[in-house]
Amino acid sequence: MSTPSSLASGPEGPHALRPLLDTVLDALSEGARVRGGPLPSGGPEAVAVRLRDAIGDVLPDQGDPDALHDIVRALAEGAADPSDPFCAAHLHCPPLALATAADLAASALNPSLDSWDQAPGASELEGLVTEALAAEVFGTAASRSTPPPKAPAAPNATAAPSAPSALITTGGTESNQLALLLAREAHGADVRLVHGANAHHSLPRAAWLLGLPEPVVVPAPAGALDPAALGEALTSCAAQRLRRGSAQPGALVVAATAGTTDAGLIDPLPEIAALCAAHGARLHVDAAYGGALLFSDRYRDRLTGLDAADTVTLDLHKLGWQPVAAGLLAVRDPHDLAVLHHRADYLNAEDDTEAGLPDLLGRSLRTSRRPDVLKIAVTLKALGRTGLGRLVEQVCDHAREFAALVHDHPGFELYAPPTISTVLFRPAHTGDAAVAAVRRRLLTEGRAVLGRARIDGRLWLKATLLNPHTRPDDLAALLKLVEGNTPR
Ligand SMILES: *Cc1c(COP(=O)(O)O)cnc(C)c1O
Repeated sequence: MSTPSSLASGPEGPHALRPLLDTVLDALSEGARVRGGPLPSGGPEAVAVRLRDAIGDVLPDQGDPDALHDIVRALAEGAADPSDPFCAAHLHCPPLALATAADLAASALNPSLDSWDQAPGASELEGLVTEALAAEVFGTAASRSTPPPKAPAAPNATAAPSAPSALITTGGTESNQLALLLAREAHGADVRLVHGANAHHSLPRAAWLLGLPEPVVVPAPAGALDPAALGEALTSCAAQRLRRGSAQPGALVVAATAGTTDAGLIDPLPEIAALCAAHGARLHVDAAYGGALLFSDRYRDRLTGLDAADTVTLDLHKLGWQPVAAGLLAVRDPHDLAVLHHRADYLNAEDDTEAGLPDLLGRSLRTSRRPDVLKIAVTLKALGRTGLGRLVEQVCDHAREFAALVHDHPGFELYAPPTISTVLFRPAHTGDAAVAAVRRRLLTEGRAVLGRARIDGRLWLKATLLNPHTRPDDLAALLKLVEGNTPR
């Protein structure tokens, strides 16, 4: 029996949740059926009207027993469904049922990772998972092909004190901010960010937030960072500082991208790492999208050079099939994290810490914090490297298949063979206005969600393929849909 004030945790929690789950699952099915496509039709105004009508009074005097059903149903009806093969605009993945179920447990248990006494097990789980993923990123994982011997789980005690570490974040934006914060604390407040024009917008924004000098933007006309242009930028930054009479050339932090948001391109990491080493610059790699290639034997080599980075952003709510949020910042030298140490007597009193209670406050800038690690842990364990690698390979295969369809079609132009799972294409012999129009028409009619990217001065349609279960027929149908809706 469940009442609106039943609790999710405790001995009665599962009994209260079970009927509510049935309600939620029914409402999800109904909403999706009514929507009948990858997103609701009619555009923003029509969708807003339908949602407002379905919700009615947001805060009625008397509670409404159907609120759970009605609001979930309305939201499902108004959702863009990333599992629909025609929903392929953004790095917005369809979450695994497994990870979503684990996220329910996270909500029910509600551990908060700001102090050990709110999250005794979850804090240990976070330690285990972040160490394992940091080892994966920096190539120090015990073994990639053979399972490690089953040892008692105590990596906190056994890992070398300088083993790489990682923080769980809300995503690439927070990871990039933390990376620049660590750079600032390591090198001083005048550390200058050098990034490609292809970098994610959150990087210059983080520089602004942290009060860093205006970033240096290296042109990336072909979509990836050009090492020659980066070398010139690094040389000229140093020369400028010296001209201004500074004894030191001034610290620089280079941000490279492994999986650009627009085209899914990977900057040439080995060359960039070598330039950073030669110029004494710190290196951050934003692998929010591409980082999961590490799980695939077939694609791991594309990330060669990643392990030279000081910090690496990884987003498992992109390739990784997690519900948002599931971000990580991997940090090669864990001593860099010492600057996040912070004392609040009610969370990590000195005598508690001395008495052996783990101090969690330095693991994030947030205070109350969800155990996003739970769904990640379940996914890694249930699929293994092989299972995750296979999903990565499936979406990369789809991108290649879609690119081949585009390439072979006289009515379309392909930007380039895909590097990961993004395909840029456009109707041939039309201008940018037609490209923008077909995207908006499909969006408004609720028929497909495609992205857009401006690259080499032209506007392209973007298909970001993240559904591992998409079939070749779906891809052909998507292309046909675009063809039939392009204004001529
Ligand atoms: C998506 C993305 C981000 C931002 O990540 P969020 O999880 O949306 O905050 C940063 N960098 C790159 C390259 C991305 O693709």
